[in-house]
Amino acid sequence: MPEPADLLLRPIGYVRSAVRERKSMPPLGAAASVEVLPEFAGGLLRIEKHSHLWVLAWLDQAQREILEVTPRGVADRSPAGLHGVFAVRSPARPNPIGLTLTRIVAIAGLRIDCERLDFLDGTPVIDLKPYFVTRDAAMAANNAPIGRPRDREALRESLTLQAVNFHGERCSELALAVRVVEHFRATQFEMGEPDGWDVTVPLGRPCVVDAIIGMTRATPGRDTLAFAGAEEIVFRHAGQEWTYSLDEGEEPLTPRRT
Ligand SMILES: [Zn+2]
Repeated sequence: MPEPADLLLRPIGYVRSAVRERKSMPPLGAAASVEVLPEFAGGLLRIEKHSHLWVLAWLDQAQREILEVTPRGVADRSPAGLHGVFAVRSPARPNPIGLTLTRIVAIAGLRIDCERLDFLDGTPVIDLKPYFVTRDAAMAANNAPIGRPRDREALRESLTLQAVNFHGERCSELALAVRVVEHFRATQFEMGEPDGWDVTVPLGRPCVVDAIIGMTRATPGRDTLAFAGAEEIVFRHAGQEWTYSLDEGEEPLTPRRT
């Protein structure tokens, strides 16, 4: 197959971030900006119609010759831990294009402030596209686990992002639900996810319900989510049951186990 003569990319802007080395990059990225070059200013017209943006970047420091990697979070360094580069988000790939979804925090002229980007300072940006909730949100999608969060803090941050992405705001009820799921995963699944959820949520605590759906993707229609009147979250797995009480005054992180 001949290569098309116009398969050439040029940066439309650059990432501005406090993070300058890959080893300092938090797993989910850090607050950063995209500075669009003046000749592409017209491309930003009406971008404020969107809350979230796909940012595509050229990862100029990435390895391009390898096709199998041991992803971050996979402890097994043997061949059993290898994954193809098209099956992971590793920067190593033949065409080192980074793709990250971010919430727009502010737009100031040619600068777009992003809630989080996992691109280093100075990374060339090759495209921006709006995130369309009507076609990009596949809530029934599934991923078999690739690795585990490196510590409780990384797990909490990941869970908070999942909960906020569904619920739309950070509130104290969401934070409570995050603590419960974090505790359940950390103590029962070594921070990984169970192979399928079976959870009962409190009908009278709508923010908790939203947060649980965001973190588990459990739904009534798939028979993985049930509602009850009690002020508690109940997880079931492999014939066991863990009940986290949300009653005022009770410490929620000591589940009753049956
Ligand atoms: Zn809320």
